[in-house]
Amino acid sequence: MWRVAAVRTLRGGGAGAPRAASGAAAAQLRRRLESELEDIRGAGTWKSERVIASRQGPHLRLAGGGAGIINFCANNYLGLSSHPEVIRAAVEALEKFGAGLSSVRFICGTQSIHKDLEEKIARFHQREDAILYASCFDANAGIFEALLTPEDAVLSDELNHASIIDGIRLCKANKYRYKHMDMQDLEAKLKEAQKHRLRLVATDGAFSMDGDIAPLREICQLAQKYDALVFIDECHATGFLGPSGRGTDELLGVMDKVTIINSTLGKALGGAAGGYTTGPKLLIDLLRQRSRPYLFSNSLPPAVVGCASKALDLLMESNAIAQSMAAKTQRFRSKMAAAGFTISGKDHPICPVMLGDARLASVMAEDMLNRGIYVIGFSYPVVPKGKARIRVQISAVHSDEDIDCCVEAFTEVGRKHGAVL
Ligand code: PLP
Repeated sequence: MWRVAAVRTLRGGGAGAPRAASGAAAAQLRRRLESELEDIRGAGTWKSERVIASRQGPHLRLAGGGAGIINFCANNYLGLSSHPEVIRAAVEALEKFGAGLSSVRFICGTQSIHKDLEEKIARFHQREDAILYASCFDANAGIFEALLTPEDAVLSDELNHASIIDGIRLCKANKYRYKHMDMQDLEAKLKEAQKHRLRLVATDGAFSMDGDIAPLREICQLAQKYDALVFIDECHATGFLGPSGRGTDELLGVMDKVTIINSTLGKALGGAAGGYTTGPKLLIDLLRQRSRPYLFSNSLPPAVVGCASKALDLLMESNAIAQSMAAKTQRFRSKMAAAGFTISGKDHPICPVMLGDARLASVMAEDMLNRGIYVIGFSYPVVPKGKARIRVQISAVHSDEDIDCCVEAFTEVGRKHGAVL
């Protein structure tokens, strides 16, 4: 049978060839898709993907040429994505526990390594328990619907990540959106929400477009005053913010005031994939019973579990990697400011170089790549109109020389395009 299929494929038009669907509905769909894609191109918001032909790291090779590119646009904050011990742990887990579980957790998809990793995550965040998901997108999609009913309320920062917005859309609670990091507006919305049974304030710990950090102390004070719970998404904080890298709650001294943390294993913690919720044991018990992305999606593959588990071991042994990233962030931010650029946010390895004009951000990013520096320009609708930028992300594995090369290239390209003098 396999031979027949192979021969058919070789002759063309066989099993391997793409088949175009026929019929009026398929033709109508085709016209609609073509028109929608044309609109995206016309709006200048088409996202094309550069193909990397090497491991993730500070230096990349791009498919079709481009070797020795210095990479400044991954969330590989601690440089663990290609750390030899992380890779070894993945290989060992793959060999011992196999490629995957072919099952969801509650049927036959829980291995000892899943339980160990959940225990390690809870210990890392100093919480009672944790639950794994295939991604933090899933963790955010699953929590609000499982926890909140029409009797409850959720209050969400207007610039929260898309996955929080989608998760909130899925739940039947009363929804309040407060202005970005605006505590007066949050207080007004909390007052309005007093009529509901339970209030949950939901915010990103660190916001990925601006590199700014939620005012968690003030949020927790308001939550206490108006009897609310606090939820934070720590995707851009876990592993490196705070004295021992626990995150925004540690940085701002409110670890005992934040009730629920969602975060990812796909950024600083090895960068493979996966997400989690950590918090009170009873909440985690409920999520295991009710959370749909957990109940109806495959278990995390063992190699992925191995990566994250080793990344957490490395972080719990020492915070030297996080400190090295902080020093490099400081170097980049201060040198860029001295060169005349405006960098949004404060002390965060997300360093948005603010340019304003969308075309300027796009041509400058292209010119930076021509000089061997991989950065990405962001413009509307990803960021507000008139606030286009190039987002630079610093990693612990950048050398001082890498950082200096990047600043030099920005200065040259910025002068060429009139962005700095
Ligand atoms: N939350 C925030 C703030 C993010 O930046 C991201 C990823 O970009 C996610 C959630 C989703 O994380 P994951 O890639 O694990 O699905």
